[in-house]
Amino acid sequence: MSDLTYFDNNATTRPLDEVVEAMLPYLRDQYANPSSVHQFGQSVRHSLECARAQVASLIGADAKEIVFTSSGSESIQLAIRGALAFRKPRKQVIVSTVEHSAAGKMTAQLEREGYDIVEIGVDHNGSLDCAELERRLTDQTALVSMMWANNETGAIFDVERIAEIVQAAGIPLHLDAVQAIGKTDVRVDKLAVSFLSLSAHKIHGPKGAGALFVRRRTRLAPTILGSQESQRRGGTENVAGIVGMGVAAELAHQHLAEDAMQITGLRDRLEQGICNASKLARVNAIDARRIPNTTNIGFRGLQAEALLLLLSESGVCASAGAACSSGSLEPSHVLQAMGVDPEYAHGSLRFSLSRFSTTDEVDQVIELMPSLINRLAALGAR
Ligand code: PLP
Repeated sequence: MSDLTYFDNNATTRPLDEVVEAMLPYLRDQYANPSSVHQFGQSVRHSLECARAQVASLIGADAKEIVFTSSGSESIQLAIRGALAFRKPRKQVIVSTVEHSAAGKMTAQLEREGYDIVEIGVDHNGSLDCAELERRLTDQTALVSMMWANNETGAIFDVERIAEIVQAAGIPLHLDAVQAIGKTDVRVDKLAVSFLSLSAHKIHGPKGAGALFVRRRTRLAPTILGSQESQRRGGTENVAGIVGMGVAAELAHQHLAEDAMQITGLRDRLEQGICNASKLARVNAIDARRIPNTTNIGFRGLQAEALLLLLSESGVCASAGAACSSGSLEPSHVLQAMGVDPEYAHGSLRFSLSRFSTTDEVDQVIELMPSLINRLAALGAR
């Protein structure tokens, strides 16, 4: 796999060696249940609490405000359901039009249960219409849930402004920071946010571990009943995964500034190189403030899926913002919400880099793209 060029880091990242090494003892010898009172259990409990402190420190939280879950998806759904349980009889939930499906599927379910879901639109750069958010808040609004950074385009919402508006209305705010942590400075101590969702595998940690920040004195009903995680999330903790998440969080914290500078340079080189090499290419959300590692490039008249297959044949892993349903490609809901011309939206690819990406890999992709585009054109796949 070493000759792969892996530009799909928003899907998942390579676990760091330090993460894997830290996890191994908990998969073998340190198998005690952290809720057991014997010393063996309590020593595992200690490791769990160290990981909690590491995750808390990444976002400027107190360790007591971190609830471990199985994933970013679970954290998001726990935050939304868990908050709404204490907001009755209010029935309105405000989200954006570009949320991840973990939030989108949850709100679709809530709608079936009688909730009123209000979606706030974004502009051509994927930035939230904050004036509309302000207008749509009512005395029926139970919760506002928004993403911090978009997984498809990398566009960052103005979370400071969003938090100000929502706080002024006295309503709890949940932020999906899954794509923001490790890429931009995410601090809950500087922001009026009640809940914030995180995932380990997007920051070079393991899959199967996530966390939800729950601000002190904020009520949250569990969705899995049990005594663990201060009764906020039942189920024996995934200790190895959580220990790995702690190490990943600590390293993400340490590397944040250096990674951001290095990866932005590579991302900009990639998008400029591709756009210079092909007049069909145009960067989506180009004027947005974006996380450093993500570029989403539309190729006019091309099919993203076909391009991805050709890239994959050449050992390049990228991704499309499009889902394939019954043989026809639907442009992603994110690009549609931004009003991207369908001629470009159908041919949009996401390249997401990491600290392991290199200049050579970037240059290889820049060199490859024109030939792939010509091959597609010759095949009539345009
Ligand atoms: N939110 C965003 C913005 C994401 O990009 C993802 C994963 O792609 C998730 C939530 C879900 O995270 P997980 O894969 O840990 O469930």
